[in-house]
Amino acid sequence: MNHVIVTGGAGYIGSHACKALAKAGYVPVTFDNLSTGWQDAVKFGPFEQGDLLDRARLDAVFAQYNPIAVMHFAALSQVGESMKEPGKYWFNNVQGSLNLIEATVDAGVRNFVFSSTCATYGDHDNVTLDEGVEQLPINAYGASKRAIEDMLRDFEGASGLQSVIFRYFNVAGADPEAEVGEFHQPETHLIPLMLDAIDGKRDALTIFGTDYDTPDGTCIRDYVHVCDLVDAHVLGLQRLLEGHGSRVFNLGTGTGFSVRDVIDHSRAVTNREVPYNEGDRRPGDCTKLVSGSTRAEKELGWEPKRSKMDLMIADAWRWHQTGHYNT
Ligand code: UDP
Repeated sequence: MNHVIVTGGAGYIGSHACKALAKAGYVPVTFDNLSTGWQDAVKFGPFEQGDLLDRARLDAVFAQYNPIAVMHFAALSQVGESMKEPGKYWFNNVQGSLNLIEATVDAGVRNFVFSSTCATYGDHDNVTLDEGVEQLPINAYGASKRAIEDMLRDFEGASGLQSVIFRYFNVAGADPEAEVGEFHQPETHLIPLMLDAIDGKRDALTIFGTDYDTPDGTCIRDYVHVCDLVDAHVLGLQRLLEGHGSRVFNLGTGTGFSVRDVIDHSRAVTNREVPYNEGDRRPGDCTKLVSGSTRAEKELGWEPKRSKMDLMIADAWRWHQTGHYNT
């Protein structure tokens, strides 16, 4: 059997990855401690509850499934929280990943797909963000992910571990069939918060900062559809299994949207008003993060087909209205 261990498989991106893996003929084995994920989101393969900080539990799961590869999504991922509680990020993300990488190597597995972030780049004025740009993170979340990237390079030297590292820009949207979707508690991400505000599930959205050096004063991000994002992971896995070796890829579309642009698109797609107010900057936010690379398209044959802002909002809105997990 083509088992792939998927850490964080009960989370937003991990659950979509499990669906894509199952569709491609792999058996995704979700390893998740359910600290931020949902058991209801595990629909496409076995579930093993466990914590990355528990090395013995990891070893037992590797022994049980004899996987061909690991996809590592499990992490704390909120920029704002990482500024308030950096220790939590350094401990959970870095120590948890070290345990996982050591368990992977000790089990004789050599293929590793890692979920990294454009937050590892930090703020670079007028520099095209391709994979060669210096990584100078300005928040603890990005710093913890950069450390794990470094760790993977060291283990490659020592043990031959091959890795595909994906640096995500802003992931949005949901499974068009609404089997899985984005659901965080607490929610901190722009699009789900806005959809909640639109249908009255929470108060008005607050725009974090209107005095950035951008055309409309709000931060600019590059949004990529979660289904496109996980398709790239399946292509990255195939690259590893074919023996093409380690590589880093940005996953973004190269198009930037300000917070106000996203509000305008949400109003148009849902045909509803977006209640919002303007607030202070959120510590740790970069001004502009837009990918400047087409390496994933060129080398993996990746086609980000659904990553149009209106389609991402429409898919998120469908999930928001029809999908849910038992909590
Ligand atoms: N944002 C905002 N209000 C919110 C949540 C987010 O203005 O309630 C902004 C945030 O400052 C950033 C963008 O929306 O510029 C995307 O933030 P999100 O938390 O979704 O993703 P991040 O870029 O932090 O990974």
